[in-house]
Amino acid sequence: MYTVSITGSKKTYNVGKIVCLGRNYLDHIRELNNEVPDQLVIFCKPGSSLLKNGGEVIIPAYSSDCHHELELAVLIGKKGKNIPRADAMSYLCGYGVALDLTLRDLQTQQKTKGLPWEIAKGFDTSCPLSDFVPATQITNPDNLDLSLKVNGQLRQQGNTNMMMRSVAEIISEFSGFYTLDEGDIILTGTPAGVGPIVSGDILEGVIEQVGSLRVSVA
Ligand code: MG
Repeated sequence: MYTVSITGSKKTYNVGKIVCLGRNYLDHIRELNNEVPDQLVIFCKPGSSLLKNGGEVIIPAYSSDCHHELELAVLIGKKGKNIPRADAMSYLCGYGVALDLTLRDLQTQQKTKGLPWEIAKGFDTSCPLSDFVPATQITNPDNLDLSLKVNGQLRQQGNTNMMMRSVAEIISEFSGFYTLDEGDIILTGTPAGVGPIVSGDILEGVIEQVGSLRVSVA
């Protein structure tokens, strides 16, 4: 139903799970005054949250504080469970630029109550996503500059070498909890600089070697 593709390839992938890693950049953990987790912070977004490059983000009426989080996205190319770290890279087939849009007010409410915060993360258009580039095109996914501008102003800037878990570690550890299937997408966390977006904003995310993503806010 929801499909993605790799640039230069005719094959399309039916999107399965969109599994996201929270709190993977120390500077972002600190800016939200969160604790450094000793275990993975994982949540999923539904396929219906996807928004194509060039699309329009619709912030739900029940939130008044939607934040941008720029993230490196990984496309899984084959099925695996309990994948050893040494084999992990053979399970991914592409890299993309994603936003993990977050209703921070709802998330904070849910956190305070000790409840799951999926509703803050999974709304329609909460996952803008570029096309993927072939994995073979990226020499080292753990050393890529990434940046996000809103209305031309730099808001987030970092490098994937600041991630506490590498791409291989993320795939390996996620596969211990969920079977990973072809077409699953992993979001790898965001660096510092997250902040609110409002109607009329233009968001432009760039990841070195991977490409760019541009969406507007309705
Ligand atoms: Mg995130």
